[in-house]
Amino acid sequence: MDTKDLYKASDNRYDHSSVLYARCGKSGVLLPKVSLGFWHNFGSVDPYERSREITHYAFDHGITHFDLANNYGPVFGSAEQTLGRLMNDDFRPYRDELFISTKAGYNMWPGPYGEWGSRKYLMASLDQSLERMHLDYVDLFYSHRFDPDTPMEETLQALVDIVRSGKALYVGLSNWPLDGLRFAHQYLKERDVPLLIYQGRLNMIDRVQIESGILDYCADNGIGYIAYSPLAQGLLTDRYINGIPADSRMAKQQFLKPDRLTEELKLTLEQIRQEAAQKGQTTAQRALSWILEQQGVTSVLVGASSVNQLRDNLSTII
Ligand code: NDP
Repeated sequence: MDTKDLYKASDNRYDHSSVLYARCGKSGVLLPKVSLGFWHNFGSVDPYERSREITHYAFDHGITHFDLANNYGPVFGSAEQTLGRLMNDDFRPYRDELFISTKAGYNMWPGPYGEWGSRKYLMASLDQSLERMHLDYVDLFYSHRFDPDTPMEETLQALVDIVRSGKALYVGLSNWPLDGLRFAHQYLKERDVPLLIYQGRLNMIDRVQIESGILDYCADNGIGYIAYSPLAQGLLTDRYINGIPADSRMAKQQFLKPDRLTEELKLTLEQIRQEAAQKGQTTAQRALSWILEQQGVTSVLVGASSVNQLRDNLSTII
């Protein structure tokens, strides 16, 4: 269906506000407990109308937070281009109702200034992201990974200056170790640019962020926490119960490989499925509610290749 020029957001989109939103740490920002990630399913290889339907469904149900990064696609940059197209086609009137994040840290362009944590890379990358997304500013800009070879002060000062320039309203960290997080929290606080949020991988079969103390540190210090890959890229759903569907992420064999499904993991997944059934939940709903039960978690950042998947995920909350 070509819905161009027809999109009008649902009048009921905030009907579930009282259960849907959570405060992000000790900030003024409320985020939906289920947020939408653009890592997969929004690239130039994906059908635009499907990406569009997913975002319409999301926003129509109060999912105000879309999460991107410079290199999401494929190809690199194309998820941001899709967001830019969506802004032009549908979401421009709703810009102030949206909380859009992007990141820089991983490989984006060739040469010494196209990845990691230098001021040179972060500044240039954000300018490129804003151009692709047709935005004047992002709500949240992340350092996407810790750079062991760049002084933390350089990366963090770039974040401070980005906020001061008005190109991002808030800053966050993703995939930083606990020591780096501690240092960053203090550095940013002293410059009146508080660390809004930490983004890390957390799900029922990957609890490293709890064991390493990162989640506790965020909870104790008023920093929001958003869990990425909360469904372990689809493992914590019923997607692979009867084999590997041709249109699944595992079939693409890039970020989720079939050898991940060991006999041991299959047993664990079966236990989780049974636990979910006892509680009257789907596997995905169980996996998401488990994360949201952890103290300090603000939101789960889900991916979805269809509206049905997003509906299933959102029904954890509403
Ligand atoms: P998930 O763990 O939610 O996996 C999403 C995938 O699981 C979907 O693409 C779909 O796979 C499958 N799926 C989702 N819901 C259902 C359902 N209800 N039933 C059956 N299958 C389902 O998250 P992602 O790994 O996609 O990550 C989410 C977001 O987190 C990213 O988009 C990105 O914004 C962020 N992220 C950040 C990282 C970082 O370094 N900061 C790293 C990774 C992600 P299928 O395609 O097979 O249908």
